[in-house]
Amino acid sequence: MPFLSLPLISRRSVALAPFGIVMSRAATTSQHWALLSDTHIPANAEDSYRGFKPVENLKTVAAQVAAAKPESAFICGDLARLEGLPADYEQLKGLLAPVTDKAPTAMILGNHDNRKNFLAGFSSSQKGTQSVQGKHVLVVDGPAVRFVFLDSLLQSNVTPGQLGKAQRSWLSEFLKNSNDKPTMIAVHHPPDDGDGSLTDFQFLFQIVKPHKKVKAIFYGHSHVYRYDVMDGIHLVNLPAIGYNFSDDQPVGWVDSVLTAQGGDFTLHAIGGNREKDGKTVSLKWRG
Ligand SMILES: [Zn+2]
Repeated sequence: MPFLSLPLISRRSVALAPFGIVMSRAATTSQHWALLSDTHIPANAEDSYRGFKPVENLKTVAAQVAAAKPESAFICGDLARLEGLPADYEQLKGLLAPVTDKAPTAMILGNHDNRKNFLAGFSSSQKGTQSVQGKHVLVVDGPAVRFVFLDSLLQSNVTPGQLGKAQRSWLSEFLKNSNDKPTMIAVHHPPDDGDGSLTDFQFLFQIVKPHKKVKAIFYGHSHVYRYDVMDGIHLVNLPAIGYNFSDDQPVGWVDSVLTAQGGDFTLHAIGGNREKDGKTVSLKWRG
């Protein structure tokens, strides 16, 4: 597992430093991100679906994430239960405090969010906001990789998503004008041809494919935990925190260590199918 060795080298270099052994910083630069999705937080803490209480689930996950001490975190959309009501976001804010108090947390909008209500409660906490007409878009640059958080919310409580022309034009220009740092894209809707997916996913691929720095696309929405590769670009479907749609899927979050060469992704399953709990998937980025 070549990528697992990177953070270990990094830790050892700290231990050896007093003895005068200096290791190259560039070779060991990594970023620790907590990857969350589909929290589906309702105002009413007792709300349940398929036997899961999203509020209880996020309490458990927030404590685990805080204990893992990531440098940053993101939530891949469907922050709110169904319609993105102001009271949903109030509840979410309180539940996330153990994470957001310590690590900047980027939030992506899904089809169960409401952009106006979300921004009223969270806009000041969102770092790296880009000027894209009618969309909540962020760019977060780190030492090893860069994240671009896109907005596929088309209409609250309507299933399919769309980036739209203005956002696609922005992304195209951004990728042309930014440096070659390995770039991760995150968006709520799946980049596939499903009826409830990202309706303009083919345009998205046309834009990102020629830019070799784009290494992976992270998404949520399906409440499925899954890895695929398309045209050398890794597709990472993050599990839901609120509830699963089928018993064979985990409920939980993914801890990650990312470098310029690849990433290690460890599932923390708190419910549903926990078979892969604690298991790490290592990905190598395209060259
Ligand atoms: Zn969802």
